[in-house]
Formats: sequence, structure tokens, C-alpha cells
Amino acid sequence: MGKQIAIDGPAGAGKSTIAKIVSKKLGFIYVDTGAMYRSAALFFLKKGVDLSDEKVCSGLVDEIDISLKYEDGAQKVILNDEDVTGQIRTEEVSNSASKTAVYPAVRAKLSALQKKIAEENDVVMDGRDIGTVVLPNAFLKIYLTASVECRAERRYKEMLEKGEAPDLETIKEDIRDRDYRDMHRSEAPLKKADDAVEIDSSDMTIDEVADAILNEYKKR
Ligand code: C5P
Repeated sequence: MGKQIAIDGPAGAGKSTIAKIVSKKLGFIYVDTGAMYRSAALFFLKKGVDLSDEKVCSGLVDEIDISLKYEDGAQKVILNDEDVTGQIRTEEVSNSASKTAVYPAVRAKLSALQKKIAEENDVVMDGRDIGTVVLPNAFLKIYLTASVECRAERRYKEMLEKGEAPDLETIKEDIRDRDYRDMHRSEAPLKKADDAVEIDSSDMTIDEVADAILNEYKKR
């Protein structure tokens, strides 16, 4: 069993940025479980199926093969032999991922894969249900949050930098919708594990958050 750090929290709280820094500092593997849910959604989108049809989506789960590869420390996501690392970062895939992530068959498949990776490696794993469901015995659990306004501003700036023409109000609405779906689903909803340390990153820099987590790690 590897050493495990679980980082959960809502979309846009900075989980992946922070998890990458912390994993690099500790020499652990970074596992972005959101990328797996995104890849599953991309699979359903490519199949052209109705994402709201649980029966059809669940019936296709066995055709999904997701694996992670690491190149120079960066995670690449492979979906049925295709590198989909870039393709899963669109708004369409973001919104679709939280829809198909509610299906127990999808969650069972992906959490089994996540548990296996954590058994074989020291990991910093981020997601929504890592501390509560996937790695309930993690060495350190962090619940990373930030206000909707702050998360939307960050996303807005990222999109501007990419040369896109974002609308702040639409981003806020998407974030609220995603939070709602993630927190209210019956299977593995997003919530803070009882033994998680909560960090609100709204008024913190990236380095401050990473240092806070590394300090928690050292304390244990
Ligand atoms: O973290 P990211 O935004 O990439 O995740 C995309 C979606 O995947 C989330 O909105 C959530 O619905 C789902 N997800 C999940 N459980 C995880 C990670 C992500 O349900 N452990």
C-alpha cells in the first residue's frame, strides 16, 4: 500500500495545481481523477449517446478503458489507446463529466482503477470523493474550497489567457450547477470527510496553499 494524500473540493478550487506542486515536492505520483470522469464523458459523447440515459451509459462502461501515463512528471490520459489529455479540457466535456459521474456503474469502474493505482504507488489524488470513498484511510485528507466568485474569476482569467471570449456570469452559473450536481448526487457526493483538514483558498496564493498542505503532511 502506498502513502496517500487525498485532496477533494469543488471545481475551480485549485486542486490540480496544488496537487501537482505537492506531489512533485514529495516525489509522489499525481492522480487527477476528474480527468478519468472527463474521459468517460468524452467516450459517451463520441458514441453520440444520450447522456441522460443511465441504462445506455451504464451498459457501455465495459467498453471504456482508461489508463494514466506519466511523461516528465505530467499526467497523460489514455482512453481506449487514444491520448485524450487535450480533448477532455473543453467546457462541453466539463459539464458532461458531472452528468455521467452520477451513474453508479461509471463510479464503480473508475474508483476501482483509482484504488489500484493508490495500492501500487505513493499518490496525491484529487477529486470529489477521494477522502470519503476511494481512499478512506488516506494518510492526509484535504478539503480545498474557494468562493464561487473567486473560482469563476480564476476560470475567466484562464480563458482570457487562452484567447477565448468568456462571459463571467455564464461561468458562475456553470460552477453553481456543477457544485449542485456534485454535492447532491446520491452516489459519492462531494463532501468534506470528517477527518479532512479544510482550506479555503479564496485569499491565498498557490504557494501558500501548497505550503499549508506540506505542513500538515510534516505534522503527521
Ligand atoms: O475535477 P474535474 O473538474 O476535472 O472533474 C470533472 C467532473 O468529474 C466533476 O464535476 C465531477 O462531477 C466528476 N468527478 C467525480 N469524482 C471525482 C472526480 C471528478 O465525480 N473523484
